[in-house]
Amino acid sequence: MKLNVYGQMIPVKRTKGLKELGMMGFYSPNTKSIEIDSTLRGRDYNETLMHEIIHSVFDAISLNTIVSLEVEEMVADNVAKCLVKNFTFKKKVTK
Ligand SMILES: [Zn+2]
Repeated sequence: MKLNVYGQMIPVKRTKGLKELGMMGFYSPNTKSIEIDSTLRGRDYNETLMHEIIHSVFDAISLNTIVSLEVEEMVADNVAKCLVKNFTFKKKVTK
């Protein structure tokens, strides 16, 4: 799957063993890609994906240069949980 974040196509991969490394997923500003632990399903998957999308938006608009990583994590966690609690998500089909 690829996501369009401000015109940049961000690949999303399912990766084995991330939870064992202490993370559900991550966004890499170097490779402009998202990886999500392959075992996540349902709400855990959606919250993690939203969380990482928020990190990619912070990177895309350089918000990470003016707010601390701690604040970025709080925004990503809380906005992701709020969105997933109130909406259902379905990826648009893109060409
Ligand atoms: Zn995070």
